[in-house]
Amino acid sequence: MANKTLWRNWGGNLKYRPSKVSYPDSEKKIVKLVKKCAAKKRKIRAIGSGHSWTPLCETDQILVSLDEYQGIESVDQDKMQATVFAGTKIQNLTALLFKHGLAMENLGDIDVQSIAGAISTGTHGTGISMGNIPTQVVAMDIVIASGEVVHCSEEENQDIFKAAQICLGTLGIISKITLQCVPAYKLKYDITKESVEDGLENLADYIANNRNYEFYWFPHTNTIQNKFSNITDEPAQKSTPLNFINDYVLENGLFGAISAVTRVVPRTSKSVAKLSAAAVGTVSKVNWSHLVYATPRLVKFNEMEYNIPIESFNDVFLEVVDAIERYQFKVHFPLENRFLKGDDIYLSPAYQRDSAHISLHVYKGKAYQKYFKTMEAIFLNNQGRPHWAKMHNLTAEQLAPRYPMWNKFLAIRQQLDPKGMFLNAYLMNLLGVEMEDLG
Ligand SMILES: Cc1cc2nc3c(=O)[nH]c(=O)nc-3n(C[C@H](O)[C@H](O)[C@H](O)COP(=O)(O)OP(=O)(O)OC[C@H]3O[C@@H](n4cnc5c(N)ncnc54)[C@H](O)[C@@H]3O)c2cc1C
Repeated sequence: MANKTLWRNWGGNLKYRPSKVSYPDSEKKIVKLVKKCAAKKRKIRAIGSGHSWTPLCETDQILVSLDEYQGIESVDQDKMQATVFAGTKIQNLTALLFKHGLAMENLGDIDVQSIAGAISTGTHGTGISMGNIPTQVVAMDIVIASGEVVHCSEEENQDIFKAAQICLGTLGIISKITLQCVPAYKLKYDITKESVEDGLENLADYIANNRNYEFYWFPHTNTIQNKFSNITDEPAQKSTPLNFINDYVLENGLFGAISAVTRVVPRTSKSVAKLSAAAVGTVSKVNWSHLVYATPRLVKFNEMEYNIPIESFNDVFLEVVDAIERYQFKVHFPLENRFLKGDDIYLSPAYQRDSAHISLHVYKGKAYQKYFKTMEAIFLNNQGRPHWAKMHNLTAEQLAPRYPMWNKFLAIRQQLDPKGMFLNAYLMNLLGVEMEDLG
């Protein structure tokens, strides 16, 4: 238990001092903590690895970390399902699953998040035949405000389950998660480079005919970098010094150093983007899936990401490209473009629509507000829904009409936590919960 320590998120844009930080290592201890807080009318926020840019975890009261509550509780080999403790970091989770011959169907591009944190904000990878990480969840146990442990799944408490799959930590403390896994698989990962025109012409084919496809566009250039991953039986390759140089020295060390130059002299951003585009080479590697999805992220940045209907992608992307040139935004990080299957989770940005995600990154310390605001206006005109963990400027008024199940989610939140024990000021504003709504 640490007291009054200053907490920062990964991006460094948020700082807060909880009055206490609690590290329960069992469900029983989570229940005890929640009951104690209820009796003393204290508020609680759960935290995973603190990788969100939005102030979801912020509190000056009780912060709960499940870092001490990690691991696999049980595996059902017939169903290929694993029940895991909610604090488990994804890199530990995938290593443990691998020992059981299992893997996650899809993942995002880092693996340091907790599984509960990743689920709670709708974290996703890319691949049109697959949904976000919450779609891989088949059941959950949540310690709600009364101290009761609610089990929910597609079969049991289904409404609560659909709300809990992406719940921003507002329904209670998720203690256990049952994941639908797949047999462990290897991926062949290929990188190619082409012009924007060719890339957009080939886009539908790339999306349809590759398991995982995404592309990066380098601002101020006509270059895109395609990233394809497909299942293979080829032997896994050992990490080579060349991989190390690419992942750590080029993608992180060198990129970090030149990014620092663009912070001091923003006009160099254009040249840096062009240099990065020119440096893209053809790469091919084979490895077990969990060793392919994630790459190290040592260069700090701020990020905005919006989900749009997949049909609008080409038009929206070209509008974004045009706006960067028109307003001469001094950005050099590539824009990341991913594609994802729709789902039926109440607060999912991919709710009932196959989706494209466009992510914008700005090096830490450089101005991002005008850039993000301009791009956000484009996304909002095109049915955009923000990534819950990444920077955006929306509150309940703009969010509610974008989510058909918004009121249903709010009703479930109210039912499970009538006094708002799991809300902070940011979440009240985000969800449109008023003080008088809380009993
Ligand atoms: C470098 C970087 C790369 C990223 N890459 C991707 C990517 O590829 N795809 C993508 O979609 N996102 C990506 N993200 C966003 C990231 O996945 C989300 O911010 C995710 O929520 C972080 O997980 P976390 O464990 O750090 O959660 P936190 O940020 O600590 O918390 C997130 C939410 O989860 C809740 N929570 C945590 N634990 C519990 C619990 N036990 N019970 C109830 N609620 C809980 C918190 O209250 C909060 O609302 C990236 C972020 C960074 C910084």
